[in-house]
Amino acid sequence: MSGNITFTMIKPDAVKNGHIGAILKHINDGGFKIIAMKYSKLSAEKAGEFYAVHKERPFYGELVEFMSSGPIVAAVLQKDNAVDDFRKLIGATNPSEAETGTIRALYATSIGKNAVHGSDSDENAQIEAHFHFSNTEMFV
Ligand code: ATP
Ligand code: MG
Repeated sequence: MSGNITFTMIKPDAVKNGHIGAILKHINDGGFKIIAMKYSKLSAEKAGEFYAVHKERPFYGELVEFMSSGPIVAAVLQKDNAVDDFRKLIGATNPSEAETGTIRALYATSIGKNAVHGSDSDENAQIEAHFHFSNTEMFV
């Protein structure tokens, strides 16, 4: 399965602003198959664990607070070259630098509240998918 999955979350800002449906349509139109999906809310502890790689960064506290501030949609997506193609579909971390038509250009409001998460490597896609889903919750 390595190489053809990525993990995404529709973040609390995009959920709150009513963009779940529009973002899922971008995902479908981009050729990704949803093989797992969950509407849930992260505890601060879980959010902190998920973004532990950023622990030393100045925005870590803000990131953890934001990611546990409301419900999210977590999903595992399947496609050839899933990680890179999904990063292209979502655009740059900072929405002001995201290419026109990308999910972040359309729905993000700031670098912190940037609408979606996308894995940054095949290895992290596997780790992140299994952080949120058991094998019996993924339908390849
Ligand atoms: P993500 O991992 O959520 O897909 P990314 O890979 O584009 O985003 P990272 O560098 O991994 O970007 O940063 C993780 C998240 O931390 C960003 O999506 C954003 O929400 C937040 N973040 C990053 N840089 C900043 C910053 N300078 N100020 C505030 N929040 C930030
Ligand atoms: Mg990242």
